[in-house]
Amino acid sequence: SYYYGVDLDLVAEKRGTTNGVISSTRQNAVIVALVRNSELDKMRDSIKQFERRFNAKFNYPYLFFNDEPFTDSFKEDIKSVTPSKLDFITLEKEFWEIPKNINTTLFTEKLAENKDRYIYGDNVSYRLMCRFESMLFYNHPSMATYEFYWRIEPDVDYYCNVNYDPFSFMKTNNYTYGFNIALVEIQETVPTLWSETKAWVRQNQHYLPEANIASWLLDDNGDYNMCHFWSNFEIVNLNFYRSEAYTSYVKFLDSAHGFFYERWGDAPIHSLAVSILLPKENIFYFEDIGYRHSTVSVCPSNSEMARNCACKGRTSFHRSVCFNNWRDSKNISKRKFLDSISS
Ligand code: GDP
Ligand code: MN
Repeated sequence: SYYYGVDLDLVAEKRGTTNGVISSTRQNAVIVALVRNSELDKMRDSIKQFERRFNAKFNYPYLFFNDEPFTDSFKEDIKSVTPSKLDFITLEKEFWEIPKNINTTLFTEKLAENKDRYIYGDNVSYRLMCRFESMLFYNHPSMATYEFYWRIEPDVDYYCNVNYDPFSFMKTNNYTYGFNIALVEIQETVPTLWSETKAWVRQNQHYLPEANIASWLLDDNGDYNMCHFWSNFEIVNLNFYRSEAYTSYVKFLDSAHGFFYERWGDAPIHSLAVSILLPKENIFYFEDIGYRHSTVSVCPSNSEMARNCACKGRTSFHRSVCFNNWRDSKNISKRKFLDSISS
């Protein structure tokens, strides 16, 4: 059967779930959460569901990051809901600091200016979080041995049984980035992100592939349309974030101050990088991993997939403008992409 042009039988076969048999290949993969001690209850609930839906079958390790030491009760409580190997990491200063290129006076002014303009408008730790998730976590020494990661957060629901290994699925089929929700970013948080991104692209054209999928992020004028993959769920081959091209991009962004004077999120940054540096064939939409975070949820609209889920009439997010953009998008050539951002 076909769905959005996808051969579902072929996908099932590629996932190693044909006839219900789970492929036994394990990947160097880890489940990662950045989380505060105060979020223990919600983190534990997320993990309970994550275990029941997926990880009890696969036993991938977990890694928890925190800018403060985890309390004993946090560690004990998390231990009580999974037999998997657990790492609790207190971040060293260099992973959680305002860089020297930030002018304290100007930063204070910008926080005051943005306070009532958008959520977390004057929140400093939120900005440190976004910078950490954009350009630091994958280079933490505790992550060094891992090739793939799956990001989780407190306060999420997993609606579907995942009876195959998404890491192996991605590895086998050469997928770099996996997502399940596409949303619109608040424009006021990223006023100069697109102009800085274009400046980086112009100076670094040698990093671009022959074709990319940036088209889904561009409006008719070649401007950023604010769509992004929602990064609180993402499954990624970390070699992408560790690549020369991605490293160059985020260093450039860091020197442009936008994490602090504005409030650039890791979601639009990951999405722009992935879509500029990869063709569509390297990105996978995990429709079958029904999910909720905050007030946004997705469930498969494909009925075969929905049989694995407790979705009970929950509406899928398929009709969102950004998801439709993604679904209908096609690769464009390097030349065409460079032309479209030249104005
Ligand atoms: P939102 O989803 O954009 O509203 O942002 P969240 O508040 O959920 O933050 C994203 C992730 O980073 C969540 O997993 C939080 O637990 C975590 N996080 C955010 N701020 C901090 C912080 O100051 N310290 C720590 N340790 N974790 C944080
Ligand atoms: Mn969140």
